[in-house]
Amino acid sequence: MNREEAVLRELNLYPLWQQRGQPAPVMAPVEVPVTEKTAAGSDKGREQLVRELDWPKLKSMVSECTACGLRAGCTQTVFGSGDEQADWLFVGEGPGADEDAQGEPFVGQAGKLLDNMLAAIKLKRDKNVYIGNVVKCRPHDNRAPHADEIASCLPYLQRQIELVQPKLIVALGKTAADALLGRDDTIASMRGKLHDYRGIPLVATYHPAHLLRTPLDKAKVWEDLCMAVATMSATEK
Ligand code: SF4
Repeated sequence: MNREEAVLRELNLYPLWQQRGQPAPVMAPVEVPVTEKTAAGSDKGREQLVRELDWPKLKSMVSECTACGLRAGCTQTVFGSGDEQADWLFVGEGPGADEDAQGEPFVGQAGKLLDNMLAAIKLKRDKNVYIGNVVKCRPHDNRAPHADEIASCLPYLQRQIELVQPKLIVALGKTAADALLGRDDTIASMRGKLHDYRGIPLVATYHPAHLLRTPLDKAKVWEDLCMAVATMSATEK
C-alpha cells in the first residue's frame, strides 16, 4: 500500500466512491475579499441586533431574513446544525442544491465526505460538533457568494460562534477562511498553519466539494485535521 492509499484509508475514503459521470460541484472563488470596507457597508443596526440574540431568536431572524438578494433565489434558509455547545465548529461556504432542498448543512456528496473526515478524527456530527456556513441561502447556480452577500450574512455566523463558544474552528474552503480571517488568500497559502479568530484557534483546509474534484488533496486535509486534533488536545491540557 503506498502512502497516498494509506492516508485515504485513514480518512475512510478509500476506495474513492465518487460516482462516474456525476459532475463535480462547481465552486468559483470569491470575487471580492471581505474587508472592513465591505462589512462597513452592511446594516449596522441589524448587526447590533444580531449580537444580542439568543438561539431561538437568531434562528427565527435568519429564517425570515431578506437582507441580501440570495433569499429570493433559494428554497429556504439553512441555519446550521449540531451540538450548540460543541468544542468543534466546522464552517463551510453556503448551501448547495441538496442543502437548499433539505434545510440542513453539508448533505449530499460533500456532506458524506465531511462525515468521513469527521469519522477519521473520531468525531460525529451533532456530537460535540457544530456545522455552519458563511451564508445561509443558496447562491444561484452554486456560484460563490459575493462579498456584499457575505457581509450581510456574516453577523449571523459571528453570533453563532459567540453562542457555541467552540474551542477550535475548522474553516472549510477559501470563502469560510477569508470571511472569518478578513483575508483574500488561497487555501494553499492559509492551510498548514494555525490562525486566530477572536482568540479561538482556526485551522483552514480544503472544502469537501474541492476534494470531490481533486482527491489527491485529501492527504493535505488529513494533515490539517491532524493539526486540528493536536491543537484541540493542547487546549484541553
Ligand atoms: Fe439573509 Fe444571509 Fe440569506 Fe442573505 S444569505 S438573505 S443575509 S440569511
